[in-house]
Amino acid sequence: MTWSRADLERVAERVRGSVLWDEPMSRHSSLRVGGPADLFLEPADQDDLKAAVEALLEGGIPSMVVGGGYNLLVRDGGIRGCVISLKRLDTMDQMPGARLDVGAGVTNQALTRFAAENCLGGIEFLCGIPGSFGGALTMNAGANGSETFLRVESLTTMRGGEVLVRKGTEAEYGYRYLKLEPGEIVLGARLRLEPEERRLIEARMQEYIAKRGGQRVGFPNAGSFFKNPPGENAWRLIDQAGLRGKTVGGAQVSEVHTNFLVNRGDARAADFLTLAAFIKLRVKEESGVELEEEVRIVGEG
Ligand SMILES: Cc1cc2nc3c(=O)[nH]c(=O)nc-3n(C[C@H](O)[C@H](O)[C@H](O)COP(=O)(O)OP(=O)(O)OC[C@H]3O[C@@H](n4cnc5c(N)ncnc54)[C@H](O)[C@@H]3O)c2cc1C
Repeated sequence: MTWSRADLERVAERVRGSVLWDEPMSRHSSLRVGGPADLFLEPADQDDLKAAVEALLEGGIPSMVVGGGYNLLVRDGGIRGCVISLKRLDTMDQMPGARLDVGAGVTNQALTRFAAENCLGGIEFLCGIPGSFGGALTMNAGANGSETFLRVESLTTMRGGEVLVRKGTEAEYGYRYLKLEPGEIVLGARLRLEPEERRLIEARMQEYIAKRGGQRVGFPNAGSFFKNPPGENAWRLIDQAGLRGKTVGGAQVSEVHTNFLVNRGDARAADFLTLAAFIKLRVKEESGVELEEEVRIVGEG
């Protein structure tokens, strides 16, 4: 480590937004595990974010962005350096031609409500996916046969303090994947939507929410832990390997949905990592398929 606490303090001094020291990441992950981040920043706006990013670069300090933490497993040793939350970059602006400019800090729920209220269809599939719009873009979140990038006209990011805009068609994305350069932060996107009657959009939202009944697993989780392999369902492979209810420490394969790993109350990140490694091994032995984590694993062991 070539930087010190004093370097971090110099970063914190440059930021107008909120500053937290040794912030437990279990508060920012839906799995409710994870050690502390040395410095946790919530910049007040885009200029404040730029100041933070530049100060971090000057100090050679590593950083990462967290959204809602619904797809995040933070190791027990926590995160060295800085974690940035874009919660306050939460603007939504309606533009001509059924377009919507949405900041990374907007929640999917606020976005889908706003779009429906303004008779803009096409993004309502996000209504049942927890998290921030920045997280939805970074993960190319999807459900009900749709995915976020199908609606992205342009993507705005920041790298080294510089704002970059690329067309949605120029972005490299795939199943739960968006290619970003190291240190690139998603600021938001312009969506191209369809004018549609509000009641029709809301009817679909209700249908999508109702379909999620089977995901009410009763314990903290991060949704699907593994990606579905091509032509397969990860939950089925895990079930066939006999792992429903398999427990390591406080982490368990949900009894309700076998691709959901749940925190029974006192789990540590290490329990989830051991359980995930065991699942991968057994599924490989049983079906020959290599599962890949959908959940992003970060931090130190
Ligand atoms: C009950 C439940 C159901 C779910 N159902 C679905 C589903 O149907 N479909 C689906 O796709 N997902 C689903 N998920 C997973 C999760 O909701 C999505 O992946 C969501 O998009 C994550 O958003 P987030 O803001 O929580 O991101 P986080 O978990 O905070 O971050 C995810 C990753 O993106 C990075 N990141 C976040 N924001 C930015 C940014 N602005 N710039 C750069 N990097 C960033 C983080 O560093 C991390 O690597 C579900 C989760 C739960 C708990």
